[in-house]
Amino acid sequence: MATTAFDSPARNTRAQARKRVASADRAITPSPDPQPRIATRDVKSPVPELNPRTHSYEFAGPIGATILSVTMPMIVLGLNVLCTPDGCPAASWVSSTTALAAHLQPRVAWSALFDPGALVAYLGWFAWCVAMYRLLPGDTVRGTPLRNGQTLLYKINGFNTLVFTVICLLLVVNFHGPDLLLYIADNFVPIIFSAILFTYAMSLGLYLASFKGTKLLALGGNSGNPIYDFFIGRELNPRIGNFDLKQFCELRPGLIGWLLLDVAFLTKQYVTAGYVTDAMALVVMFQAIYVIDALYNEPKVLTTMDITTDGFGYMLVAGDLLWVPFTYTLQARYLSQMPATHLGWLGVLGVLALNALGYYIFRSANSEKDAFRSDPTGPRVKHLRYMETAAGSKLLISGWWGRARHINYFGDWLMSVAWSLPCGFAHPIPYFYPVYFAVLLVHRFYRDEHKCKTKYGKDWDKYCALVPYRIVPYVW
Ligand code: NDP
Repeated sequence: MATTAFDSPARNTRAQARKRVASADRAITPSPDPQPRIATRDVKSPVPELNPRTHSYEFAGPIGATILSVTMPMIVLGLNVLCTPDGCPAASWVSSTTALAAHLQPRVAWSALFDPGALVAYLGWFAWCVAMYRLLPGDTVRGTPLRNGQTLLYKINGFNTLVFTVICLLLVVNFHGPDLLLYIADNFVPIIFSAILFTYAMSLGLYLASFKGTKLLALGGNSGNPIYDFFIGRELNPRIGNFDLKQFCELRPGLIGWLLLDVAFLTKQYVTAGYVTDAMALVVMFQAIYVIDALYNEPKVLTTMDITTDGFGYMLVAGDLLWVPFTYTLQARYLSQMPATHLGWLGVLGVLALNALGYYIFRSANSEKDAFRSDPTGPRVKHLRYMETAAGSKLLISGWWGRARHINYFGDWLMSVAWSLPCGFAHPIPYFYPVYFAVLLVHRFYRDEHKCKTKYGKDWDKYCALVPYRIVPYVW
């Protein structure tokens, strides 16, 4: 999430993933063993050139990696410290920076940050997710082929984990009341701090473990500079037996945790104010749809850059376990502290319409490309115009992908705005997500342009001439 890329047209649907497992099994080896394992030829020790040195840096190299490693947790903590159970201090956009500084000071006290109970709660949540991953049933799906010739198998039961967790939570609330959820809402800051400690510990462990034995390393994470490699991620697919740490962290503790935190804040509002506002209900509903959608389509994550290309290091660990659950919940947390924020019917309809528009663009653009990449002659896409390229892949030049080169980003961003508008305009905090997300999407756009220019060469220039808008039609 670190980009936490929840949906990609390049990623397959469950049915397509099963089809891919089946055809891959036919092509390579039958796999009667339902447990995830290395499925194809057993390459015991990758030849040295499979792990070449990384010679180019991203994120401004070791200096950028150091700055981001230190500041990411501070930003997460700072954003959440600003709104306390006593309310959000800044009444205007202008005064918010001063207020943040003022509020940070007393809160930085160790006792306000570290609480053994919160640490146990956080570790308990992580252990719960591990147990569910191991115990609950799920499909086994083959990942994309790795550069050492292997293909890994992945257990897909994120959606089952979500459903089972929700059932258990309902039972707990039914028999013991909302205390567990209130504990989470009331101890949010020490829980974040526990997640920060866990993130550093896990990233360090992953970095050190990457030197043990012969591992397949990420092409971008083998520079030899310890800080940079720790940040980017050295090992490509760290596993304990058949337990894939990267796939596990992508969608489970952080993403399901996001929803759990949202529900905790909704409960907090209900218990303290005696009602749930329309604004809170909308925010939690929108985000729940997004999380459910991502977990239901879990196989799609296997073809994302996060899984296929990036090493598993601090960048992804912090993104998955820290950034997503503790910054994507800012709107719900804000509303739990500010129960007077109501939308009214007109506001509700406006925000519903904006979210529906964003979702429509996001889903149909992604699905259109997904369908086209699976079968360009299929009934849903055969009417679309496309151009041939020397690289072999066709590029759509009509439909959604004829309107802008990344119209799917536009839809996703519209949804992020719809999640913030219910919070009103009294405070900038709820708008952190759309602002950050815009930066992320523009950065991602340029990374993808670079990739496509490298892959398609002059054909990409022709495509850009035919489809001049980048993300927003007629604007940019
Ligand atoms: P995209 O869906 O944007 O796919 C980009 C790839 O599509 C290109 O590399 C190219 O691959 C192919 N492509 C580009 N143009 C065309 C065309 N005209 N016709 C056919 N294929 C084309 O990938 P992302 O993973 O960046 O985004 C997927 C979704 O995930 C988006 O909706 C995005 O908003 C979302 N996302 C969400 C995040 C979050 O935190 N919530 C974070 C990041 C992404 P090739 O030609 O090689 O097949």
